Amino acid sequence: MQAESASESQKLMRNRLSRRKLLQAGVVAIGAASVGLMACTEEKDAAKATREAAQAAPAFATAQPFVPGPPVGKGLVRDLAEKLWTGQTTTYQHHPFEVVDDIEEIADRTLFYKSFSNVTAFETDQGLVLIDTGSFAIPSPAAVHEAIRKWSESRLHTAVYTHGHVDHVFGVPPFAEEAKGKGWEQPRVVGHEAIAARFDRYKLTAGYNGVINSRQLGAAVDWPTSYVYPDTTYDKSTVLTVGDTSFELYHARGETDDHTWVWVPQRKVLCSGDLIIWAVPNAGNPQKVQRYCAEWVQALRKMAELNAEVLSPGHGIIVVGQDRVRQILLDTAEFLQSLHDQTVALMNEGATLDTIIHTVKPPEQLKDRPFLQTVYDEPEYVVRNIWRLYGGWYDFNPSHLKPAPEAEQGAEIAALAGGVPALIERARSLMEQGNLRLSCLVIEWAAAAEPDNRRVHELRAEVYGTRNSEETATMTKGVFGFAERESRAKAGE
Ligand SMILES: [Zn+2]
Repeated sequence: MQAESASESQKLMRNRLSRRKLLQAGVVAIGAASVGLMACTEEKDAAKATREAAQAAPAFATAQPFVPGPPVGKGLVRDLAEKLWTGQTTTYQHHPFEVVDDIEEIADRTLFYKSFSNVTAFETDQGLVLIDTGSFAIPSPAAVHEAIRKWSESRLHTAVYTHGHVDHVFGVPPFAEEAKGKGWEQPRVVGHEAIAARFDRYKLTAGYNGVINSRQLGAAVDWPTSYVYPDTTYDKSTVLTVGDTSFELYHARGETDDHTWVWVPQRKVLCSGDLIIWAVPNAGNPQKVQRYCAEWVQALRKMAELNAEVLSPGHGIIVVGQDRVRQILLDTAEFLQSLHDQTVALMNEGATLDTIIHTVKPPEQLKDRPFLQTVYDEPEYVVRNIWRLYGGWYDFNPSHLKPAPEAEQGAEIAALAGGVPALIERARSLMEQGNLRLSCLVIEWAAAAEPDNRRVHELRAEVYGTRNSEETATMTKGVFGFAERESRAKAGE
């Protein structure tokens, strides 16, 4: 994956924004009134108070003094953090994965580096501790090393992986190399004990991961097959003391089974990993393994009790101020809890997956939160993931249990419709009426019936191109954009 191609796809994504969603996200935040959030401490009361506060005024803590002291970088981080929170800009304009490539001091001797994924560095009197280390591709491991070195010359003492995703675990080698050259002790690498199994799986399924991630990101991904495994692991929680500073590590299944969030009480900094990413949580990803909604909610509520001053997320921007940190944590918890509880209630009634995905909706009062927009994942996918966690792959439609091959299904529907040209016409008409869900279905029948029909692929490219332009979530756009390109190639365009 090249830096240029990814940034091109991000630009494309921003240019294809739905105006409606942009306005929705912007207007509410700009008009936000000033409300102080909850004072209660009990988890139950806190959740209730969040709901009441949100219903009373869908607003946020107002602007407040930002990070003390002059910026250590270009000031882009603090500027973006304030503008995103107060609605002067949105995640549709500044996607959480945006490569800002800037540093900011977020507490005493504590640095935040904002790129595709984020890195937080803590200086101690025994060396640096990094929470997450950056990606295999964007930014390059060398770029992360360089960014940190602009701020501190201390040796890397410990690197903590918040989880084993490949955009978080590739930053150690330049520091290890440097340590060798300078005769320093090698850095310690810490992570949850399940990370090793993830790396093993990534090696086993490197081809598959290359395919799905190229599709998701719209750029070729050469999936890595060599990893720096943690040399120090833990199970439920652990405390690392490095020099004068303690780091509390807690395991929580959520986006992954190997996730760690980190609380640094002396700095009042909370590193959430990908449990917060300034978007609808990555709890539904259609091409990835299982996510864990209920445990995710618990972890967010536990983090909210800490009264952190700064939240440093896995992607997206920092959140500064106790009220704001509590709000992003508790609102995200409520969002996930609602999807979870609605889905489970319907499952318990014996509803089909079809009924459930078209019935469950996120809480109305949270739909305009600037940090809960559908710029990456979508609530509909979260619902499917909850079904998969508690149920099987059978969706309760008996024709799907042992289905006829799609080519036969397409041929049968085409015969009923009066031929493939009739299906093409119908798909076009549905597209023009704006019913893209149905239009896609009809054109897929046509493509299944006649996979080499050039006219089918001309329209199929148009249908998915239109659909891609109307969607906002990276995952959705990735799949539809891939289908568009696939058909353009088959149509000889
Ligand atoms: Zn991530």
